Parts: sequence; structure tokens; C-alpha cells
Amino acid sequence: ESKVPTNFIHQIIEGEIAKAKGELNIHTRFPPEPNGYLHIGHAKSICLNFGTAQKYGGITNLRFDDTNPSKESTEYVDSIKNDIKWLGFDWGDREYYTSDYFDKLYDFAVALINKGLAYVDFQNQETISAQRGTPTRPGTESPYRNTTPEENLAGFEKMKAGEYDEGDCVLRAKIDMASPNMHMRDPLLYRIMKVHHHRTDDKWCIYPIYDFAHGQGDYWENITHSICTLEFEVHRPLYDWFIEQLKEGEYRPQQIEFSRLNLSYTIMSKRNLLALVENGHVTGWDDPRMPTISGLKRRGYTPVSIRNFCDKIGITKTNGVTDVALLEHAVREDLNKTAQRVMGVVNPLKVVITNYPEDQVEELDAVNNPEDPSMGKRKVPFTREIYIEKEDFMENAPRKFFRLSVGKEVRLRYAYFITCNEVIKDENGEIIELRCTYDPASKGGTSPDGRKVKGTLHWVSTTENIEAEVRDYDRLFNDPSPSGHKDKNYLDFLNPDSLKVLNKCYIEPFVKDAKVEDHFQFERLGYFNVDKDSTAENMVFNKTVGLRDSWSK
Ligand code: ATP
Ligand code: MG
Ligand code: MG
Repeated sequence: ESKVPTNFIHQIIEGEIAKAKGELNIHTRFPPEPNGYLHIGHAKSICLNFGTAQKYGGITNLRFDDTNPSKESTEYVDSIKNDIKWLGFDWGDREYYTSDYFDKLYDFAVALINKGLAYVDFQNQETISAQRGTPTRPGTESPYRNTTPEENLAGFEKMKAGEYDEGDCVLRAKIDMASPNMHMRDPLLYRIMKVHHHRTDDKWCIYPIYDFAHGQGDYWENITHSICTLEFEVHRPLYDWFIEQLKEGEYRPQQIEFSRLNLSYTIMSKRNLLALVENGHVTGWDDPRMPTISGLKRRGYTPVSIRNFCDKIGITKTNGVTDVALLEHAVREDLNKTAQRVMGVVNPLKVVITNYPEDQVEELDAVNNPEDPSMGKRKVPFTREIYIEKEDFMENAPRKFFRLSVGKEVRLRYAYFITCNEVIKDENGEIIELRCTYDPASKGGTSPDGRKVKGTLHWVSTTENIEAEVRDYDRLFNDPSPSGHKDKNYLDFLNPDSLKVLNKCYIEPFVKDAKVEDHFQFERLGYFNVDKDSTAENMVFNKTVGLRDSWSK
């Protein structure tokens, strides 16, 4: 297993461990909101939180941050758990829900009211926003700011009891309307939402704001390092303020921020990913073009490749955009070591080898993975009629074309040398068949006379094969930064040709027992895996990535 690379967070932790003379239990958490499927950005956070705890002998909680019931569901909860497990991480029995703290959070809010540190504000949202001021101009105090704890307790109880309508009032902390940090200007703690919650049903009609729930959850779970993305840096004084009001002893969780992952040619916001699903731009959250974990998995990415990618990009405090080619490089690198090689022809052209016996099926030896001799060999059936790739033949070939053309000789991988003698065309002039002869002495790919042949082609027997559908994907967006334009929407950059379905592809019989998700390298073409739509009668393969690596090391 690869060692987790160091980063500034690990340096902070190592400093603390040194200070504590080794007596430090590292406890992290991964806190998804169950309002969508996890994406590759979440994978970065998962690898960081679980990886950091693993590295220092600590533990990691999974906490569902379920404070916004209108967008959340158990479908999302289940998908998140599956995806984290698939990535290779385990939270054991430490599965938590912010909704489990609703009673404690309510009690804490009551305690703040009693201390004169929270009040019910009956102004509408626009007024409250307008009163917040600007970073350079102090805000205006609400007329409800100096009401008594008794009044506020009564008001808050009524909020909880459902006696007000949505938008009638909110609970706010009483902190500092002149603070240079806008988040400290009497932030909202609770709002009324008469919405069914996927876990607490209709018990509550008031729900805590993220800021009021998150740090407290960390505190109650004994989290030591609450790692989040950079946008929350400005929330940190508020995070600390709540903990200061809540803490009883010396222990306090600390929030540490790192830069989120942005990936070129895709989008990462769950809201926008949901819109792609709902508007039918993709077939679902697990569409192989989606940057979701389930989409990447279906596309043929492996857990190892995603973890290696997360290790490679590192953890910093500088926001930027990571080239998607680096992710593709990671899966290519992993599959190169592990994927079974087979031959498959996705754009077939028939070749008849005129001097090869009719009805003969010859079983030739083929290497399963040249990177891993322990994977052994297999037999590939060779016959008089085979398919090659259309683009491996050219009628009027330039001198540097080392594949097949009339009068030229090429090697058929694992088989024989063949020479093309004749081109057969249909009435439209399209090439439909080649007539070739083979050299029986060149079996296995070398000729006893030492004749040099530059080109090697893959091929599949026209009678001994599996006919399959291949789905060839391109980027979902044709712009490197689809959501980075002021005047345009990410939907303006949807690539209309992001999916090409190739029917009548022919794969060597070896794949016939392959199961959903099994990975292959189709020699010379790229990496492919079996899609969940695949059946024994109609196999379907997804193209994970091509062979060529555009990522320079
Ligand atoms: P989105 O904007 O996509 O909805 P989110 O931050 O609201 O993302 P959460 O479910 O709250 O989604 O995220 C769970 C955890 O994953 C958080 O700790 C968050 O910081 C982290 N995370 C989310 N997106 C990224 C990203 N692009 N890169 C790194 N970490 C991320
Ligand atoms: Mg969030
Ligand atoms: Mg969100």
C-alpha cells in the first residue's frame, strides 16, 4: 500500500503530537449532506479525513449533515455509504447524523437565550439582510435584539411548536453587529421549515443552520481535527464562538481548511449535477460521464486509481483547477498493471485470408498481461475470415503508413504475417472486404527469414467472437471551466457528442464470462469495462479511457 504523502495538516498534527508527548488521539470526520451523490471532490475529502486518521492511528466518523430536509433523502444516504466503502474506507460503527443532535442543539439554543446570547427576530429575511451592512460599514441592530430571555424563550418555544409560519421569524445569536467578519453579525441559528425529515419525520418544524450544527456535532463526537474546504475559513470565528459557549473542559475541536478540488471539463456542485440528472442531460447520477464516484466506477475507474489521484494532487490552501488528464493518467496507470488484455474490433472491416484452410479454427497463444506474467496466457481462435479495424487499412497509403495497404505486409498480433492483395468495394465504392494471403511460417509473429514487418494489428475471428455494444465517451462539457463564465451557464457548454454508441463490435471469446465492472484492455484501443446494462445476449462495454497518455510526467 502506498504511503499517505505528507501535507500541511499532517505537519500541524505532528507538531501537536510532539507537544502532547505522543498522547494525542486523532479523530476526524467526513460530513456529507445527503442531498446528492458523492463526487470526485468528496473523494479528496474522504481520502484526507480517513487517510489522516489511519496515518496517526486515529479514527474517522461518518456524519450525515442532514439539517436541510427539503433536499435530503435516504437514497442519498445509502449511495454515500456505498461509495465510501467502495473507495476502500470504513467508519466501523461510527455512523452519525446531525439530526440525532436536534434535541441537544435545541437545548443549547435555549441555554444561549438564557444567557442573553440569542433572540427571536420577527423581521423578514430581506430586512435582516439589509441590516447586516457591508464589510466596511457596521450593521444595524434589530429592534428585537434587546428583548428579554423570557420573551425569547416563549418565542422560541412557539417556533418549535409550529405556531408560526415559515418566514415569520428566526432565532439569531447576539454577537456583534459591527464585527468586520459578517458571519459574526448576529448569525441565524434556526429557521422554520415545515418539511418532513427523512429521519425525524415531522417531529421538528425548526431546523438548525449549518454553522450552528456543525461545530457542536464535532464537539459532541470528540472530533479533534475538523477539516473543511477554504470557503469556511471566514466561518471559523463563529465556529469557535459556539464551541466557547458550549465547552465544559479544555477539549475543543479545531477547524482546519484546505482547498477544494476543481477539475477541468466538468462541474462539481451537487445542485448542478442534480440538474443534469433531472433534466435528462445524463442517464442518472451514475452516468459514466458524471464526475460522481458512482459515475467514475461505472466508467471503469478503480478505487486504487482514485486514491492515487487524491494522493498525487496533494493538500494545499491554494485554490486552482486540476487537469482531468491527471485523473485519466491515474486510471491508466492502475489498469495497465491489472487489466486483462483482449483483442476487440470496434469498427470492423472483413479480411479473407485466401490461402488459409476453410473451416479451420486454430488456437493461438496470447499473453494476458505483459506487465504481470503471473496472469498467464490464453488461447485466441484464428480463422480464415477475420475482422480488423477499418482505420488500419488505407488504399492509397502515404509512405509512413505502417498498417495495411495493397501489396503491403503486416503482422497480426499473436498470429501470422499477412499481405493484402485485393480490395473489394460495394456499389458505392466503399471498401467492404480485403483479400489477403498469410505466410504459414510466420506463426506467432516472426518469420524464419528475419523479414521486418513494421505494423502489428489486432483482429478478431468473424465466426469465433462475441458481438458487443461499445459506448465511447467524450467529455461531458467542451469547455475547460464550464461554470467559470460570467455571461454563460454551464449548460451552454454541454458537449453534444459526449456519447457514441458503437454497435456490432467484435471481441474475442475470452470475454464471454465477464461480469459487470470487469476491466479489460482492448489491445491498441484503450481500457474498457462491462457496463451494468450488459447481458449474456447483448454485452455492453464502456470505454474508460484511451491508451495514449497526454499527461506528461
Ligand atoms: P457541493 O457544493 O458539491 O454540494 P458540499 O460541500 O455542499 O458540496 P457536502 O456534502 O457538504 O457537500 O461535503 C461533504 C464534505 O466534502 C465537506 O467536508 C466538504 O468540504 C467536502 N467537499 C465537498 N466538495 C469538495 C471538493 N470539491 N473538494 C474537496 N472537498 C470537498
Ligand atoms: Mg456542505
Ligand atoms: Mg452543498
